Amino acid sequence: MRVLVVEDEKKVAAFIKRGLEEEGYAVDIAHDGAEGALFASEASYDLLILDVMLPKKDGLTLVKELRQTGKHTPVLMLTARDTTDDILAGLDAGSDDYLTKPFAFAELSARVRALVRRSVMERGAELTFADLRMDPVSHQVWRGTREIDLTAKEYGLLELLMRNPNTVLSRTTIAEQVWEHAFDTFTNIIDVYVNYLRKKVDRGFDRKLIHTVRGQGYVLREG
Ligand code: CA
Repeated sequence: MRVLVVEDEKKVAAFIKRGLEEEGYAVDIAHDGAEGALFASEASYDLLILDVMLPKKDGLTLVKELRQTGKHTPVLMLTARDTTDDILAGLDAGSDDYLTKPFAFAELSARVRALVRRSVMERGAELTFADLRMDPVSHQVWRGTREIDLTAKEYGLLELLMRNPNTVLSRTTIAEQVWEHAFDTFTNIIDVYVNYLRKKVDRGFDRKLIHTVRGQGYVLREG
């Protein structure tokens, strides 16, 4: 497993590298956003750990550009502040999870394991529900003949729904499965993302597939 750490604070970068190497990962370090983008485009990594505040190119721009070029490498974002806006900005840009500084190594290690495990699991067979189709290898999604362009988190959310059709999923379950941990006070993030997803999947179609079950959560079902 190869991990790229993009972090300008040399002590933090060395701390992450040492810890992950002890756990058997091969770790490269880039000290600014431009170098990080170059490394990420040239080598094939199983995971990227990106600081948000970076010289030359910030972490959000880096992950946005990466997703635009079709790279689906899981991204763990390191942020200094954990306000809803900061977290949403990171997830919107295409990162898969976030960790607030300062953090304990055990916490980082757990997030890394979860992200790598997910990305291995995702290399599976095509999923279908009604006229929805998802290719877990290319990360492409279609409704009928129309291809739907999803961000990484919208994709993760739809995948969870498609793997559990006709099952009501609570916000807590969605937070744990899609974001790998509970948001505590930030469960409204789930509602925000379900609305993003709904606009892309159901808008313009007579038959709605994503339904709200009041007081319980969300369900993928026909009608
Ligand atoms: Ca920094």
